[in-house]
Amino acid sequence: MQRMESGVAAVQRSHSVADKTGNDVGEMAECINMLRDKLQRAQAELGKLNERLSAKKGYRLGSGDPTIYEWEMDLARKKKIEGRIESIEKAVKRALRGNYGLCERCGRMIQVERLALLPFTSLCIGCARAGE
Ligand SMILES: [Zn+2]
Repeated sequence: MQRMESGVAAVQRSHSVADKTGNDVGEMAECINMLRDKLQRAQAELGKLNERLSAKKGYRLGSGDPTIYEWEMDLARKKKIEGRIESIEKAVKRALRGNYGLCERCGRMIQVERLALLPFTSLCIGCARAGE
């Protein structure tokens, strides 16, 4: 019982911190702009890759042909960027709801240092490590 009460207190504490962050409209707007900028850049990169991939006819077939290898590399890059775009879009949505910076899994604040490195992460370091 004692354990449960302290757990609730921890959640309440983390929520009051989140409210303070969420109410800082200027900071949040800056954050949304930064995310949108990153989203635009990722989309431009995806556009370029799509162009190259759609020119597949130009890639020659043959075992161990370097152009086929290139194509596969581009395809892998494309998948990576698509995943990144998805995470950024999610981060923008969270920011618009005012809960950007909160861990999706445990609901606690994501460490500022972590957000500086991974601005569109949805997990705190603890949950990210647990998921690995
Ligand atoms: Zn977490």
